Amino acid sequence: MPPIGDNIRGPPGARNCHGDMTLSPATVAGLEKRRERMLEIKLERALEPAQMKEQPCGICGADFEPEAVIAQLVTAYEYIPTCDVCLDHLARRAREEAIRADWNDVYRRYIDAVAKYPEPVFPSLEALKEVEARDPHWNEISEMTKV
Ligand SMILES: [Zn+2]
Repeated sequence: MPPIGDNIRGPPGARNCHGDMTLSPATVAGLEKRRERMLEIKLERALEPAQMKEQPCGICGADFEPEAVIAQLVTAYEYIPTCDVCLDHLARRAREEAIRADWNDVYRRYIDAVAKYPEPVFPSLEALKEVEARDPHWNEISEMTKV
């Protein structure tokens, strides 16, 4: 995907050789700002079974039970689990509309990861705590949550 503003040629509103509308610097700045505000979704394996308990989706608020791979909405302060329906919806919007977000890629990776990791990293909180005792800074543990 070319970076935003890659097709700036000629006066604003003119079409370049690809037939794309050229963008004024102000429009490009606006698009960059909008991209900053786009929802960012991050995938992580559930650490232990309690993370898969019913909870509200960070986007729509509906209660759902996460899979052993959790799609999380990234906010300034925390990661909030999001439901399959919202993730599917975002992926469809990114596919069908000119939205420059990676939601469709995230959704595909999510589907693959859910099939690959049917269980959380640890079978219980106790098992997690045992590993945490020798990995207090979560160097190993955070590696284990990667999909
Ligand atoms: Zn939702």
